[in-house]
Amino acid sequence: MPASSLLGGGVIGTSAAHHLATAGRSDILVLERDRLTSGTTWHAVGLIASSGMATERLAWVAKYTHELYQGLEAETGISTGFRQCGRLHPATTQARREAQRREINFTRTLGMEKHEVSAAGVVRIFPLLDTTGVLSAIWTPMDGRFKPVDETMSLATGARKRGVRIVEGCPLTAEVVVMAG
Ligand SMILES: Cc1cc2nc3c(=O)[nH]c(=O)nc-3n(C[C@H](O)[C@H](O)[C@H](O)COP(=O)(O)OP(=O)(O)OC[C@H]3O[C@@H](n4cnc5c(N)ncnc54)[C@H](O)[C@@H]3O)c2cc1C
Repeated sequence: MPASSLLGGGVIGTSAAHHLATAGRSDILVLERDRLTSGTTWHAVGLIASSGMATERLAWVAKYTHELYQGLEAETGISTGFRQCGRLHPATTQARREAQRREINFTRTLGMEKHEVSAAGVVRIFPLLDTTGVLSAIWTPMDGRFKPVDETMSLATGARKRGVRIVEGCPLTAEVVVMAG
């Protein structure tokens, strides 16, 4: 077995392989029992949403994810289908609205752009939304959508370019020991 063997060719397995290889790890093997993206990744909607990030670490992950997905195509030549259409997250209670205000202030300190918009502002951004009961919303211009299958293929391509071996149609049937470091 190679030094690092990963299980599963979904977005997580290919991302781990890509990041390990980018960090200079060699001799990495990814085993996928069926085909790349044949698991949950295939079903995902592909929302890249940074709302609800209540800790610095989560907010950092959200920020890093945006940067990664926007830069990956230039690196791999495979589009992730990322479309920065922004995201509205409505609040229908005063408590939710206050939580959102805290989130706006907190994430701004980390350089993330978020704004509170009124119900009328929501309609201006997305006229199809029924705003009955909506007090306000968080508007996050940097959020958007990508295509999970394309994203995974892009990560897999980047990993392969750095020497990662990805084997499809290869279920792991033995016990696995997970080692970090
Ligand atoms: C309907 C739906 C919508 C979603 N929408 C979003 C969204 O908008 N935004 C978002 O961020 N997340 C979303 N998610 C969540 C997201 O899809 C998952 O968190 C993500 O796809 C998990 O990726 P994964 O690589 O861990 O798992 P998977 O994609 O399931 O990959 C695991 C892989 O492991 C393989 N495997 C399993 N056992 C073995 C074995 N023994 N040997 C070899 N290979 C094996 C499987 O075949 C599979 O390909 C959504 C999920 C669903 C179901």
